[in-house]
Amino acid sequence: MLNICVFEGDGIGPEIMAPTLRVLDAALAARGAEPLSYASHPAGAGHYQKTGEALPEASVAAARAADAILLSAMGLPAIRKPDGTEITPQIELRFRLGLYAGVRPVRVFPGAPTPLASPRAGEIDFVLVRESTEGLFAHMNEGIVTEDDATELLRITRKTSEKLFDFTFRLAERRAAQKGRPGRVTCVDKANVFRAFWFFREIFEARAKAFPGLATDTAYVDAMAMWMVQRPWDFDVLVTENMFGDILSDLGAGLLGSLGLAPSADIGDDAAVFQPCHGSAPDIAGQGVANPLAMILSGAMMLDWLAGEKDMPVLALAASDIEGAVGRLLAEQRDLTGDLGGTASTEVCADAVIAALGQP
Ligand code: NAD
Repeated sequence: MLNICVFEGDGIGPEIMAPTLRVLDAALAARGAEPLSYASHPAGAGHYQKTGEALPEASVAAARAADAILLSAMGLPAIRKPDGTEITPQIELRFRLGLYAGVRPVRVFPGAPTPLASPRAGEIDFVLVRESTEGLFAHMNEGIVTEDDATELLRITRKTSEKLFDFTFRLAERRAAQKGRPGRVTCVDKANVFRAFWFFREIFEARAKAFPGLATDTAYVDAMAMWMVQRPWDFDVLVTENMFGDILSDLGAGLLGSLGLAPSADIGDDAAVFQPCHGSAPDIAGQGVANPLAMILSGAMMLDWLAGEKDMPVLALAASDIEGAVGRLLAEQRDLTGDLGGTASTEVCADAVIAALGQP
């Protein structure tokens, strides 16, 4: 039995986690797969307020030992450290567990409220892979600021870049096989100006040679920001540095039309965290109206990743069933929560996903 470490988090976190686990159970049962074993562990702003600790060592140990980690959202604006900053255990986890590959799928389901008016908007289906442990975040909190200037360091290492690109190429190969068409990976950088990005690009091109079945190209990040608005349907898999990825992934979430539809994964060599892109939404917490779909889609990403890691193809089928069910709700514009123009509660929406599993 696979063990899943669950962080229910803060705000709407517990409200979206419980129905997500129900959806995962139902999808696995429908495929005759063994159920997952879930164990909930403390972390987050609420736990910090009670104990002074945001991410207990026992929770990190449990996360390391698990087969995968599901996280809803952590942090509450009103709960802060003595220096005034918010607690961010979800970011700390990325560094502690070496989760270098941030996977942000941008797929516009028919019926989703994308702000793009183009009739081709429904073809948008790409994945952004954001390096998540170095780049401009490598020396986070160590910036040097004087009265007259401020300096931050950007760091790109060969070791992490090679792992990042290999991961990305394998992901593109898997997508190409699933979709029955050739795969393409675009390295997004600023190699025209910065030597560090030339270094990044050279490693990309060197590693690409090991994946001759994939098409590869490169793009400057400023041009990519424009193309993601003008012709996002042209891209398959994008890979980029941490800060560029931070910005472009929000552009991608913008294309989806709602934060409540944006799932994500943060993957390393020995661990992987799956969580929605949105935060703990304290403004609507406790009302039972939060959209559970980004959390549910993150759960589907977890099943799909576990299918590859554990060589259990049935899990990929269950993941695809969940995505199909979410797609059906959006296409038929039914049982959606308020952020998507509906009136359904969190639970009603999740129940509708369960009812739509496996429907043609
Ligand atoms: P947020 O994503 O929580 O909320 C932004 C807006 O989107 C709010 O109006 C909220 O109601 C709405 N929203 C978000 N998720 C929704 C959902 N599932 N259904 C319906 N509406 C939804 O961002 P914020 O308000 O800037 O941050 C709130 C807290 O969350 C802060 O403490 C922040 O640090 C934290 N945060 C955590 C994560 C994470 O855990 N990965 C990410 C972002 C923010």
